[in-house]
Amino acid sequence: MVTRGAKVLIDCGFSFKQLQHRADRVGERLDDLDAVFVTHEHGDHVKGLGVLARKLKIPAFMTTGTFARLPGSIAEVPNVEYFAAGDSVHLDGLTVNTFSVSHDAGDPVGFCLGYDGVKLGIAADLGHAPNLVRLRLLDSHALVLESNYCPDLLRCGPYPPQVQQRIRGRFGHLSNADMSVLLSSLAHDSLRLVVLSHISAENNDPALVVETARRAMHPRRVELVVAEQHQPTRLFEVLP
Ligand SMILES: [Zn+2]
Ligand SMILES: [Zn+2]
Repeated sequence: MVTRGAKVLIDCGFSFKQLQHRADRVGERLDDLDAVFVTHEHGDHVKGLGVLARKLKIPAFMTTGTFARLPGSIAEVPNVEYFAAGDSVHLDGLTVNTFSVSHDAGDPVGFCLGYDGVKLGIAADLGHAPNLVRLRLLDSHALVLESNYCPDLLRCGPYPPQVQQRIRGRFGHLSNADMSVLLSSLAHDSLRLVVLSHISAENNDPALVVETARRAMHPRRVELVVAEQHQPTRLFEVLP
């Protein structure tokens, strides 16, 4: 999230080189990043974290549970700043509110970022969305939500039964239907943008995700964007 004050990155699942390449493609710089916030320690969220934190010399905010389980492959992360789920972190006018999510990780969190009256809610990698998560995301002007799998495609897909069970479980990932229920409960007149993320390449279909989200939003006109794995989305300006 880029504001007139702080500029922060949420997670760093790509190599630093790939992140640099993607930032270049959307006309953004990395050398003025103020901090990185980490949702949890799975490799697709922290692969480039060590190199990023060492090269840019920026603080990496995470829970102690996440830090304790960081993979050794990312090597040292200097300048770690801890928060507890539920805490708020303040950086140059930007407020980052944190909340627990249900996922099979050490102490995973979602974030709500607030700046100058604009609220961005982020919840990816969660097995289900209890009322606490919904309440934290209420009144967001923009949302980044997981829509990981379609149950039918998962069932017929290449994953072995135990992996399918993990994905479907309370500590796994959010299905399109779960996303739809959550999203429809979060609709309001000032919700401008929804980015649907963490979409499985094997067990989902982007067209189905968009159609499900569109139905959840009906009749409101909200910009719906699918975050693809192999290319960056464009930059979005979100106003209150
Ligand atoms: Zn995960
Ligand atoms: Zn993930």
